[in-house]
Amino acid sequence: MYKGIGACAGIGIGRAVLVRQADLDYSHVTFAGAETEKARLAQAAAAFTEKTTAMAEQMKQRVGEHQAEILMGQVMMLSDPFMTGQMNDAIDQGQCAEGAVDTVCGMYMDMFASVEDEMMRQRATDVKDLKERLLKILLGQEDVDLSALPADAVLVARDLTPSMTAGLRRGSIAGIVTEVGGATSHSAILARAMELPAVLSVPGIVDAVQDGDCVVVDGGEGLVLVKPEDGVLLAYQARRDALLRERADLTHYHNQPTRTEDGRQVQLFGNIGSVADAAAVAEASGEGVGLFRTEFLFMDRAALPDEEEQFAAYQAVARQFPDREVIIRTLDVGGDKDIPYLGLEREDNPFLGFRAVRYCLKREELFATQLRAILRASAFGKLKIMLPLVTCLDELHSARTLLEQVKADLDRAGIPYDKAIPLGVMIETPAAVLIADLLAREADFFSIGTNDLTQYIMAADRGNANVAYLNTPFQPAVLRAIRQIICAGHQAGIPVGMCGEAAADPLLIPLLLDFGLDEFSVGASAILPTRKRIAQWSAQRARQLTEEVMALPTASQVQTYLKTHAQP
Ligand code: PEP
Ligand code: MG
Repeated sequence: MYKGIGACAGIGIGRAVLVRQADLDYSHVTFAGAETEKARLAQAAAAFTEKTTAMAEQMKQRVGEHQAEILMGQVMMLSDPFMTGQMNDAIDQGQCAEGAVDTVCGMYMDMFASVEDEMMRQRATDVKDLKERLLKILLGQEDVDLSALPADAVLVARDLTPSMTAGLRRGSIAGIVTEVGGATSHSAILARAMELPAVLSVPGIVDAVQDGDCVVVDGGEGLVLVKPEDGVLLAYQARRDALLRERADLTHYHNQPTRTEDGRQVQLFGNIGSVADAAAVAEASGEGVGLFRTEFLFMDRAALPDEEEQFAAYQAVARQFPDREVIIRTLDVGGDKDIPYLGLEREDNPFLGFRAVRYCLKREELFATQLRAILRASAFGKLKIMLPLVTCLDELHSARTLLEQVKADLDRAGIPYDKAIPLGVMIETPAAVLIADLLAREADFFSIGTNDLTQYIMAADRGNANVAYLNTPFQPAVLRAIRQIICAGHQAGIPVGMCGEAAADPLLIPLLLDFGLDEFSVGASAILPTRKRIAQWSAQRARQLTEEVMALPTASQVQTYLKTHAQP
């Protein structure tokens, strides 16, 4: 059994298909003169651009804009005169085209690989992909085509590059296993977007597996089993079938209102990071969008998306949900969300530093551009604006002032927008909990960000495994905070939602219902399971359970109690 990082839950069972490294040895290529080599390089670059643009187009339709942008990023990189200039210089110094590509891309890879930041390190994978594909073109080798694999294939590769995955679709293969890549790597993002069970960062897996071996991928637990014994295989098949049956049972809840057993209706929205995610939420019959993490529009690229590009994305999501609410969160950068070209300085405590609304309020131009794009898109749907990481009223005041200025600009230009667009705040800091009554007087809605709220209340970094035992919403401190926030919102007459991961935790659903949460916002794949769970609770039973749970003094007691009593 091999252990890695579970990047997309689900069980995949199938036959291994190894994606081998291509033979990129070019030692046999002799230098044919600078002009000839430069011409070969230019030809290969043109072929690369044509092929990659076509792949990006395919990807855009199948997976989403963001993933297509990763590929277009490679085209951009190769069209950068600085990079091609360096390659031509290498040729002038006597290297063949292959050597020039190898040397220059190698330099960029070393540069990206040496930085600490995970997102930046991912770019080394992109440059490697670019280098290998350029070399293959120069050496006349075929690219791996993953679009023709059988449905029971389990892909085993050192790393999955964006270009390799262009042909994959939801359900097209049984699973993915790679040797490298973390939870935020491109392979992980792609696997989740396509709901393919995936385990990444499994050291030595490529050498441990042969083509055709039976492989089990347990994406939930992050486990890979190669040639499992019959009994183990049968057990996994049974679990996979049960999961699939569970999924099929859920179709009953498709396109149904979200109601408790005794008929109280709540809203069930989806969390998205792209236009493609919005389609997945609509497909799962989500009733709107409770969190659009707009930072994904800003990531994995070399420069800011301009107003038009942002407008197009917000408008596309608004159109996906014509009569439904779509909550767009303004840029949440900093902390663990680095966007290198924004030039944020390295900080000792980035989670306590210059991030989210703090950053936007200092970069007024950038903030105004985003607000303008959201306002323009508000003419096409029911958009709401939400501010991340609010800690004091001044932040809400400053954001509102800027919003009013942008509205006045649009009025002057005669551009239509929703004049009554609601402005809400995320409650994800202890400060915001403590002044929730004051915030509720001025905010149009609350959404509880339990991922950050938990880490700040418990003073436990959400990415640090050593303090993971503290970082759980079962902590009585967190549960009390959630109850307090909902109460403060309701006293002021504003709706309260939750868009942190806790909203999708089946054990917490009865508590959240009893606290009076108005809106649950969860990932697309959690929409139907959450609707089913909500339908299993009545106010009375949720009340009884909550009373018991809120009297328990520790997180482990809360969790154990819920595990035995919160199963309807
Ligand atoms: C949260 O903090 O709960 C949240 C929803 O925002 P993010 O996970 O993007 O920080
Ligand atoms: Mg957050």
